Amino acid sequence: MNKRIYLSSPNMGGEEQKYVNLAFEENWVAPLGPNVNGFEEDLKEYLKVADASVLSAGTAAIHLSLVLLGINAGDSVLCSSFTFSASANPITYVGANPIFVDSEAETWNMSPDLLEEAIVEETKKNNKPKAIILVHLYGMPANMDELMAIANKYDIPVIEDAAEALGSKYKGQALGTFGKFGILSFNGNKIITTSGGGALVSNDYEAIKKSRFLATQARDNAPHYQHSHIGFNYRMSNIVAGIGRGQMKVLDKRVSQKRAIYEWYKELFSSVKGVRFLDEPNSDFYSNQWLTSIVIEESVTGFSREDLRLALEEENIEARPLWKPMHLQPIFEDCVKYVDGTSGKLFKDGLCLPSDTNMTTDDKQRIVSVLKKFI
Ligand SMILES: *Cc1c(COP(=O)(O)O)cnc(C)c1O
Repeated sequence: MNKRIYLSSPNMGGEEQKYVNLAFEENWVAPLGPNVNGFEEDLKEYLKVADASVLSAGTAAIHLSLVLLGINAGDSVLCSSFTFSASANPITYVGANPIFVDSEAETWNMSPDLLEEAIVEETKKNNKPKAIILVHLYGMPANMDELMAIANKYDIPVIEDAAEALGSKYKGQALGTFGKFGILSFNGNKIITTSGGGALVSNDYEAIKKSRFLATQARDNAPHYQHSHIGFNYRMSNIVAGIGRGQMKVLDKRVSQKRAIYEWYKELFSSVKGVRFLDEPNSDFYSNQWLTSIVIEESVTGFSREDLRLALEEENIEARPLWKPMHLQPIFEDCVKYVDGTSGKLFKDGLCLPSDTNMTTDDKQRIVSVLKKFI
């Protein structure tokens, strides 16, 4: 069997081990130390944001941002429906109720119209949402001007889930820095990885300081262990942070590699009618093209996304349907939702293509031989 070609696998730059070794040499084998501080500095500088705290996962960062916003049991939180479950799960960790908002067709991200409708309708029911979790899926910036204008108009704080969007920008500004909080993920499949980890970023310096306090069991300033808050064990290990420091050195390179993969697929499919890509709508949008994603109009192409996926799988090449929207997931099916069918259709017809920066010329040739049957 040929070796498997992945959607997106870890791709080390070479300097990661240097920082990991440093942690061993200095015995900083703990959830604090010079790599943790260094990785946080690197992220602050890259994103041009006031502060960042690195954590055990992106999911932990979403959870902490909800805690920091004072979201309580019974509150409602608006959330993009078209996303990975990790965007929505933390809403339930604080006992709040997710309200799902559908996508718009252009960016596949949260629809400004449906967002406003949700806020107006829920406020009428005396249930004004307490926060908005909006996602930049597959690295594509959401329509930030319109979404932020609505959030500001109704005075609702925004948490940007930029887990898939490190390196992406909207009007030249890094994603994750528009809302009250931004979250990043360094899980194994993301554009850079620490094997697992995340970050919380904000221009509110005090909020990030508090996130470090909450993430290390909320220990009060006393010689003994004293607690006046419920804490969490969410800090990133200094060993893991060493991988992050090494990965930051190749982040821009990974972004250009991902964008080149997207261009390559665009070229391959250029003569095929009925295949649509997730394109940047205009020059305000700059996507890291984490996973090149397409929508296949079967009535035009004569083949479905499943036909293509199975043909690739046959050759040990990974492709995957787009995210299944949260409002269609069994666990969330009873939640309130403002949907118009957009994400449901994307899920039905959409496919993520292998977008691994480790792909060799031979790997790409294997992909081309499968695609040839369809184009
Ligand atoms: C990966 C991902 C997360 C979760 O990040 P972890 O670090 O795996 O906890 C959250 N949201 C989206 C959209 C993601 O893709």
